[in-house]
Amino acid sequence: MVTPEILYMVIPCYNEQEVLKETASRLKEKFISLQSSGKISDKSRIVFVNDGSSDNTWDIIRELHSSEPEMFSGIDLAHNSGHQNAVLAGLMTVKDICDISITMDADLQDDINAVDEMIDRYYEGNHVVYGVRSARKSDTFFKKFTAESFYKFMKLMGADVVYNHADFRLMSKRVLQELAGFKEVNLFLRGIVPLIGFKSCSVYYERHERFAGSSKYPLRKMLSFAVNGITSFSTKPLKMITGLGFVMSVLSAVAFIWAFISKFAGLTEVGWSSTVCSIWLIGGLQLFCLGIIGEYVGKIYAEVKQRPRFIVADFLNDLGAEFINDPGKDSAENKE
Ligand code: UDP
Ligand code: MG
Repeated sequence: MVTPEILYMVIPCYNEQEVLKETASRLKEKFISLQSSGKISDKSRIVFVNDGSSDNTWDIIRELHSSEPEMFSGIDLAHNSGHQNAVLAGLMTVKDICDISITMDADLQDDINAVDEMIDRYYEGNHVVYGVRSARKSDTFFKKFTAESFYKFMKLMGADVVYNHADFRLMSKRVLQELAGFKEVNLFLRGIVPLIGFKSCSVYYERHERFAGSSKYPLRKMLSFAVNGITSFSTKPLKMITGLGFVMSVLSAVAFIWAFISKFAGLTEVGWSSTVCSIWLIGGLQLFCLGIIGEYVGKIYAEVKQRPRFIVADFLNDLGAEFINDPGKDSAENKE
């Protein structure tokens, strides 16, 4: 086999004090076995990204780093930036020091054992390896239903995402370097990574229940995530408005002719209810369409401001003076 590559595993953590120690020990075990089988370099690290947690998450990360600096690193974000931004902050911080990155949630829902296969696929020449859930036995019916509808709806709306793939994913250094060029604020990594291209494949695993703690994705956040995904990757809703407008115009032309004929045939019966109904219908449709347009305008507003998507407050590592990487580079550029 070729010389083992440096793997950086990026784990976003938001109020994960209940599960973090267990996650760290399981990942460490995995790293030791990968290192002893010569699949990854001894310079590989597990990087926890603290996404502005209000509990003891950062203290635990600091402890892990100081007791085993050659296994654990930590990134502290200045404030809670959301799951997607936390993942990106981690990836952008390590992009110049790793050969391979793998992102995974902190709650042990993703199968750590799938990592071996992901790395094998990487050595076979894949730059992106998607972790795809083969079953959702542990999810409640509601979560399974909403999540699966999410993927189907996304596809229908023109945003192509890998079915049943969340953010458990391997990416090569090359892909990370390209990812750095995507400057959008409304970040939806699942949509961006397929856009980058390069050879990719999927690895299947069973998703478990959360090891401890509670989900940080209530229905409200999930819905806004779906809306964000669609409006960031597709202009199909805008085209649908045009289509709707066209259909309405045809229908009103027909209605107009019908009204005209009725009038001359002496059939007119001035209907108050139909007038009121149509006013409501048209008003509702207009508001709905304006709302969709507003959604896009809001996005343009957020994008043109070009605010930094995350701010790295601290990067704990054992790389010493030879390491010249400005973890805040991505955001500093935008701050100018
Ligand atoms: N997370 C984060 N910032 C947030 C919310 C969540 O970094 O604002 C992390 C969280 O710690 C976890 C991952 O994102 O590692 C996924 O969150 P969660 O497990 O709560 O989502 P679910 O699996 O329920 O969809
Ligand atoms: Mg989870």
